Order: sequence, then C-alpha cells, then structure tokens
Amino acid sequence: MSSNPLPADLCPATRAIHAGRPPHDPDQPLNVPITMASTYVAGGAKEYGRYANDAWTAFEDALGALEGGRALAFASGMAAVATVLDLVGPDSVVVTARHSYLGTLGVLADLEARGRAKSTLVDISDTAAVIDAIDEDTALVWFESPTNPAMEVADIPAIIAAAHEAGARVVIDNTFATPVLQNPLALGADIVVHSATKYIAGHSDVLMGAIVVADDTEGQALYDVLKGRRDLIGAIPGAFEAWLALRGLRTLPLRVERASANAAELARRLADHPAIEEVRYPGFGGMVAIVVRGGAGPADVLVRATRLWVHATSLGGVESTFERRRRWKGEASTIPEGLVRLSVGIEDVEDIWADLKGALDGL
Ligand SMILES: *Cc1c(COP(=O)(O)O)cnc(C)c1O
Repeated sequence: MSSNPLPADLCPATRAIHAGRPPHDPDQPLNVPITMASTYVAGGAKEYGRYANDAWTAFEDALGALEGGRALAFASGMAAVATVLDLVGPDSVVVTARHSYLGTLGVLADLEARGRAKSTLVDISDTAAVIDAIDEDTALVWFESPTNPAMEVADIPAIIAAAHEAGARVVIDNTFATPVLQNPLALGADIVVHSATKYIAGHSDVLMGAIVVADDTEGQALYDVLKGRRDLIGAIPGAFEAWLALRGLRTLPLRVERASANAAELARRLADHPAIEEVRYPGFGGMVAIVVRGGAGPADVLVRATRLWVHATSLGGVESTFERRRRWKGEASTIPEGLVRLSVGIEDVEDIWADLKGALDGL
C-alpha cells in the first residue's frame, strides 16, 4: 500500500501522527489494515510474507519519519541488535559501553567465544578513554546514551568523529532517549537500533525492534544489506505486533513529554530523601536511577512496598515500573547493589510520588 505523502517541514509530534497512513482517497481506512497473509498473488513486489507486510511498512514509514531515516521492523529489539552485530567480520573489534543492554553484551560475548569478533568495553562517559580505545581494527562503536542502567551520557558527536576518522561505523541504541529526544542519524551515526518494545510501542504489550539508517547513498547500501538479512533469517514481526507498535508510536511524543516531566520532578524530590544515597537523572527522558542507602536489602524491600509502582524489568510503558538491577546475575559489578532503575510512567506525578515516598519512608 502506498502511503499518504507528507510535507517535508513537519514537527515530530505531527510526523508521529501522520506518517505511515493510507492515502487520503475515498473509502481508504485512516489506519493501515492488519494483513494476515503468508503469501501474495505472484507477480507483484511482495511475493511472500517473510519479505513484506503493509503493517511493517506503515510502522517503518512512521519511525523513519521520526528518526530522520529509513527503518526496518524486526521481531524484537534483540533481533535488530543481533542482525546488526552479524555484519561484523572476523577479527574485527567492537568498542562498546561497559554499561549496555545485557542482551547486547551477551551477543558480543557469544561472537567473541566463537572467534568471530572481539569487544573492548569502555566507560562511554569518559570521552578521552573512548577515543583512545578506537583504532584501525575497530569495525563498530556501539553504545546507548543514556546508558542502561547507569544513566551515563555520551559525547555523541565527539565519539562519532573519532570513529569515522578510524574508519569505524557507529551504532547507537536509541531505546532510552527515543527519537523524540535524540536523533543519532542527524548527529552522524550510521545505524540506530531500537527496542520498540519500550517507549515506541509504549504499553507493555508487544515485543518489537527496529533498525534505522540514513536516507542517503550509504544508508541505502546498509538498508539493502540489512533488509537482505531480515529476508534471509526471518526475524520479522507479526502484522498485529507492527500494528500495535504503530498505534503506540502515534502518542510517543505526548508520552515522552509527560514521562520526562514526571521523571524530572521525581528526580528533584528524590534527591532530598534520606533513604536515598544518589539520584542519577541525565536531565531528559523518563528513566531515573536511584541508589538506595544500605544496598540490596532495603532496595528489595522498596520494590515490594509500593501499590502503583510495579517491580518488573522492561521500561517505557505508560505505567511506572522499577527494578533492582543487580538481581540479574549478568548485571555489571560496577552497578551498585542498591541501584533501582525507575521507568517513570505518565500517571499523575503526585500519585506516583506519594506511592514511592510512602515506600521509602518505611525503609
Ligand atoms: C530491551 C532492550 C533491548 C532488547 O529489546 P527486546 O525488544 O527486549 O528484544 C535492547 N536495547 C535496550 C536499550 C533495551 O532496553
């Protein structure tokens, strides 16, 4: 299905609403239909269900319009991550933030164990050390900013400049910041990956991922390779998942605006609470990390003592959730035992503050 053409100069909130819609023609639906098809009548561009689905295309058009590039939908964030990391050739080095999504570090460790690639872990907030780690063997520089769950922020333009000078590509996992707050392609990144499971879909009811590349000649070459990998491996989302993720994306700017305002307010109030040793908030976005005084014990009590906040992994939903990160065996030992990562939802800030404060007062 062709989509409705848009003026070039729209603001992100408008693009999120209007991109990836059917044309404004009589009897066209306003939303792309969910096409349940494993195959198509031969002779057209689609041919088979592993190659194309209108709901993916609509989602990709909308995400691409928000990130300023061309998107490809994947079955999950990890499917997108693994597809990009699969491009790395033998003996190449991936420079990665030591605080990265655990699944990403897992794929890198797996590649290394099989002799496919080596990774160098860096503190992404230490720009000089990152630049120092990049050399002519570096194939990829991969990071999130803010990092998960340490909430460090990278000097993205400086790292990109150093990577490109060394002939390396830069991949940014933009899941935490979302395309509303940060557009890595505009800063010069080569590839953006997303766990659309989080803020983009936004309702804790779907797993999906995406890769976005620039809409230029180099981006086109990457797009063809990545689309080819998706066709081959079959790491494709279902039509319903893509439809749900697109439905979520329509309200992304609004949700990010509210979650960010709530997070900033909570970060300010939490800083004064005696049960908290440290608040980490980068100044934007809906993610906050707190370090509870006394370590794992009190932090474990906290996550069970609330009535609204849910103790759950994942993030970016409309509801506030939190998690003590070191409960995961694989979490970096540089993350404090008492660190609780908050995914601040879009509830009324007074209700989520009262719930959290009550639990903290009881420690
Ligand atoms: C969740 C997450 C992923 C993995 O995404 P899934 O959709 O769970 O496969 C990758 N990167 C970040 C930053 C994440 O938070």
